[in-house]
Amino acid sequence: MELKILIVEDEKQIASFIKMELEHEGYLTIISPDGRDALEQVKNNAFDAILLDIMLPYINGIEVCKRIREFSQVPIIMLTAKDDISDKVIGLDSGANDYITKPFDVEELFARIRVATRTLNMNQSKSLECSGISMNLDTHQVVCNKKIINLTKKEFDLLEQLLLNTNIVMSRDRLLQKVWNYDYFGDSNVVDVTIKHLRIKLDDTENKIITTVRGYGYVIRK
Ligand code: CA
Repeated sequence: MELKILIVEDEKQIASFIKMELEHEGYLTIISPDGRDALEQVKNNAFDAILLDIMLPYINGIEVCKRIREFSQVPIIMLTAKDDISDKVIGLDSGANDYITKPFDVEELFARIRVATRTLNMNQSKSLECSGISMNLDTHQVVCNKKIINLTKKEFDLLEQLLLNTNIVMSRDRLLQKVWNYDYFGDSNVVDVTIKHLRIKLDDTENKIITTVRGYGYVIRK
C-alpha cells in the first residue's frame, strides 16, 4: 500500500526536493505552500503522515498542528529551521509526534516517517465500518458515503459506541456513562443533542443510519 504524505513547506526548492526524494522512495505526496491551505488539505484528504514546517505564511506550523489535533491523530513530523530547543518543545506540546531539524539527511527523514507511520500499519484493522460509515480509530477520520466528516470529540466517541455495539440498543444512560464518563441522573438531553448534530453531519435526516428507540435510546443496525 502506498502511503500518502502531505508536505507543508513554503520554500519551493525544499518542498520539491522532499517531494522528489519521497516519491523516489515510493510515497505519494502533495505539497501545501501555507498553513491555511494545509488545514484545508488535511480536512479533505486522508494522509498517512504530515511533514510540517514551522515558519509558514498565514498560519504557522505550531498553530496548524494544534488545529489538526482538534479532529485528527494523523502522525505529524515538524520541520524546524534551526536546532532550536524551544521550537521543538512547543512543537511536541502542540501535538506533533516528532521533529527533524533542517537541513536534514534524507535517510533520517525516511527513518522518522517509517517510525511515525508504523503504528498506523500495525493497526490497519482498527477501523469500524457500517451503513456507509467508516471510522478510523487511529487517525480519527470518519468517512460517510465517501465524504470526509469532521466530528467533535463527543460526536466521535458517541458514534464509536454505536458502531462498536451495532444491533444493540444503547440507552441514554449507558451512552452518557461511556461517552461522558459519569453516572448521570436526570436530564440526558446532552445525548439527544449530540445525536442530532451527528445526524446532520452524517446527512441522516430520515434517521436511517441512527435509529431512535422511543423512550430508550439509539441503535445502528447492520
Ligand atoms: Ca518556512
